[in-house]
Amino acid sequence: MRQGFQQKNIVIIGAGFSGILCAQRLEKRTSRLKNISITLIDKNPYFTMRTEIHAAATGRGKPEGIQYDLAETFADSPNVSFFCDEVTDIDFENKVVKGNVNDYTYDYLVIAAGSQPNFFGIESAKENALPFWTFDDAMAVKKQINDCFKKAAELSDEEEIKKLLTFCVVGAGLTGVELAGELAEYIPMLCVKYKLPQGYTKVLCIDAAPRCIPNLTNKLSTTCSSILTEMGVELQMNAKVVDVTPEALVYEQLGKTVTVPSCTVVWSAGITSEDITIKAAQTLDSRNNRIVNLETLQSSDPNVFVIGDNMYYVAKGKDYPVPQMVENTEQSSVLAADNIADLITGHKAKRAYKPAMHGCMISLGAKKGIAYAGLENLFMIQLPSIPAQLAKRAINVYFLVPVFGLKNALPIAKHEFLAKRDVEN
Ligand SMILES: Cc1cc2nc3c(=O)[nH]c(=O)nc-3n(C[C@H](O)[C@H](O)[C@H](O)COP(=O)(O)OP(=O)(O)OC[C@H]3O[C@@H](n4cnc5c(N)ncnc54)[C@H](O)[C@@H]3O)c2cc1C
Repeated sequence: MRQGFQQKNIVIIGAGFSGILCAQRLEKRTSRLKNISITLIDKNPYFTMRTEIHAAATGRGKPEGIQYDLAETFADSPNVSFFCDEVTDIDFENKVVKGNVNDYTYDYLVIAAGSQPNFFGIESAKENALPFWTFDDAMAVKKQINDCFKKAAELSDEEEIKKLLTFCVVGAGLTGVELAGELAEYIPMLCVKYKLPQGYTKVLCIDAAPRCIPNLTNKLSTTCSSILTEMGVELQMNAKVVDVTPEALVYEQLGKTVTVPSCTVVWSAGITSEDITIKAAQTLDSRNNRIVNLETLQSSDPNVFVIGDNMYYVAKGKDYPVPQMVENTEQSSVLAADNIADLITGHKAKRAYKPAMHGCMISLGAKKGIAYAGLENLFMIQLPSIPAQLAKRAINVYFLVPVFGLKNALPIAKHEFLAKRDVEN
């Protein structure tokens, strides 16, 4: 068969970290072939730098600084068409992706729909807590915090004021601690703006686990707790949330039930796959709503690849799946694209996924952080607080500039390194 002779459609569901990188890599790998169509679909018209939503929720930098227009990003990519559409179903038998606006036929499908918050069946939390995963979630959290301050400024009852100014973050994983750190810096600024005493405020971060970010080493976890405590965050570990009402958070800890009067509970306690992936997981081999990959990143359907947060891949020598983190999204998207390009050119999908993680950087407010870096299984070093914060910003620039182009390099670098926290942002 002559290469590129027959029309091949590749459809990618999700233009997050992994979907974008996969589309760009596929375009590069197939640029010399004719009749290749790469369709990238996302329910939003923009990409959100999810790893920065805690900063956007607390006035650090302009919120628009973490959004990138997807149509514009792919405007100069002749083989990639971006569609803003929500995928509602996949017909694996007839190879059709069904959206609210269009249907899309495919030869190869890439599922990269990412995750959503998991409320672990606590219905009152789903109803009354604020989820923390998308750009809109971040803006809703920011509005809620500001509304609480506005209301509190008009009241005189101390208990009512304290209830309005108690901000609870459920989950002391990566997302929860980052948000708690930002709140610890933001809340005192709002106290000045609304002329309210800081003593009336509280930032509480709670988790059922015995220590924060339990997948980090004990040492890093302890460093994280110490920094947050110094910043004024109250940490409650071994605390299991049992109820969330519009005016309180209730948790159980060491056999006791504790009720915290609070109008703001932000939920960052865990994630599960997006709905479309959960649906696909009913047909494809799956585990915990993530889709099981072969080492080529194909699923149990050889025409369907899965990348990023949606994949369930246990690397050789490991007993747990790849982490749902950006580095895995980058590596998996490139490998899946290369294997699809090989299939299109009449070869076998031959590359095996060998994830190699190089560490983790966590910001705690604008100035502090914790990080370890190195090469998994060989060596890892812990970075001091300020270099950890700087490393996180540098990594963001390193990721964003190749994706969104050199013309965006300056605004990206400015946003990362010069953006200030501002109560008017
Ligand atoms: C606050 C926060 C901080 C984080 N910090 C870090 C960090 O410091 N380091 C790190 O490594 N990781 C971090 N993460 C995790 C990281 O963001 C994820 O691992 C990463 O985003 C996963 O990439 P993805 O491409 O798989 O999914 P996503 O980036 O979530 O993209 C999925 C895309 O699919 C789209 N989509 C979903 N369903 C549909 C549908 N039905 N139809 C059409 N489109 C759909 C979504 O709109 C989205 O654009 C953080 C996450 C959060 C929320």
